[in-house]
Amino acid sequence: MNSTHYSPLIFELSRPGRKGYSLPASPWGDAFSVDGLPQTLKRTAPLSLLPEADELTVARHYTNMSNNNFGVDTGFYPLGSCTMKYNPKINEELAALPAFTELHPAQDDDCSQGSLRLYDELQKALSEIGGMSRFTLNPYAGAHGELTGLMLIRAYHLDRGDTKRTKILIPDTAHGTNPASAAVCGLQVVEVKSTPQGTVDLDSLSELLGDDVAGMMMTNPNTLGLFETQIPAISKMVHACGGLMYYDGANLNPCLGVCRPGDMGFDVMHINLHKTFSTPHGGGGPGAGPVGVRAGLECYLPNPQVEFDAATGLYRQVFNPKGLGQITPHLGNFAILIRAYAYILSLGSEGMAEAGTMAVLNANYIRERLKDFYDLPIDDVPCKHEFVFDGLREEYGGAHHDASHIRTLEVAKRLLDFGFHAPTIYFPLLYHEAMMIEPTETESLETLDRFIEVMKQIAKEAHDTPELLHTAPHTTPVRLPDDVKAVKDAKFTYTPPQPQ
Ligand SMILES: *Cc1c(COP(=O)(O)O)cnc(C)c1O
Repeated sequence: MNSTHYSPLIFELSRPGRKGYSLPASPWGDAFSVDGLPQTLKRTAPLSLLPEADELTVARHYTNMSNNNFGVDTGFYPLGSCTMKYNPKINEELAALPAFTELHPAQDDDCSQGSLRLYDELQKALSEIGGMSRFTLNPYAGAHGELTGLMLIRAYHLDRGDTKRTKILIPDTAHGTNPASAAVCGLQVVEVKSTPQGTVDLDSLSELLGDDVAGMMMTNPNTLGLFETQIPAISKMVHACGGLMYYDGANLNPCLGVCRPGDMGFDVMHINLHKTFSTPHGGGGPGAGPVGVRAGLECYLPNPQVEFDAATGLYRQVFNPKGLGQITPHLGNFAILIRAYAYILSLGSEGMAEAGTMAVLNANYIRERLKDFYDLPIDDVPCKHEFVFDGLREEYGGAHHDASHIRTLEVAKRLLDFGFHAPTIYFPLLYHEAMMIEPTETESLETLDRFIEVMKQIAKEAHDTPELLHTAPHTTPVRLPDDVKAVKDAKFTYTPPQPQ
């Protein structure tokens, strides 16, 4: 590793006996101090593995480390299939209100009325946005929502005594969690081919349909950022053979206030709250993946559910005997639900429709301005909230399958030098040099223009000074790791660098 900047580990900063804080003697005497503890409760080995440092050293250490991170609050983050949008700070404040954070999840319903009401109102708002009858907010993430939704589809078929339905149809453009969740659910994954235009091929779909199909999973717009305009026909075909339609809501952002999965014929869906409805989600979480169902499937939703009891005027948690059981303890990642609720209320219905259309406009703006520099395999229809380039155009050094060509990985690393996070790369798997860009609705025109200028400059460098790209990044705290050495000569123990 080529490191320009070295920060010692907290263990290297440790000095024996160094303290940030000393506890005063207990005012209640020995009975409440360490000395008063029974011998059986005292540890016998010293705590020698923990670092010992003063407060200022600890504060500086972690502040400096956090400055090496990249996030939405430090710069533009155009990851596709992720919707890394601005997270309003007011959401954080609301989620941190003591009335929420100090409520014990096992507290009686009588004492949790505000939280239960928030759950019910968010559930209703999501049902309206998705065109569904009812939502559970309990699942922890998109993938967890997929598993919940598929278990629900299976429960629906088994409840009707239909035991043959073991197959799930998934387009080849799908996110990897779709087949993974289906496999975890015990379903057999069948891939549906796409046409050269990047959408589901209806002919190959019709060949796969039969009475062994439990359902079909789709995201719309799909992972190429293309709207599946044939969706009414697809839903009709799958329903005609007895299967259910599952909507992966990770790409719901451009649909907000414009169209609804329920109206497209989907029966079950999840929403990644941490994508469409704000919440910081870099580093893997926490998130929330509420699952909605159309009328007639509500009884299979997991427990507990929240209901308003008109007789008593109180919200209460109910356990439906037919429901899936508990997929999470209590009511999910509640602090994420608060953020989504705050985001939805602050946008309102007009703001919501503007968010979706602005996300689409921003993506098309970047796509049109860069398509002379980067290879755009599908350019006959506008994209939705994201789009995919297949690396640099040939005249800028992007000739595929030529060992000397500039790879998408190198463009991504060079972007870091300009203070931008890289887009999603090498996904979807349809292209060799995929680069998936999603600007979201929350970025300013100036930010989009600056990104476009930098992407053009990188294309020119790829042509004129390719060495600059081969050796990028140049300005980050950690430079380019040697991929080959990292595999062939992997070191699993840490050796601090010697002072020069
Ligand atoms: C992010 C994503 C998922 C998985 O969601 P998680 O919340 O990360 O579990 C599924 N499908 C698509 C299309 C996604 O972009």
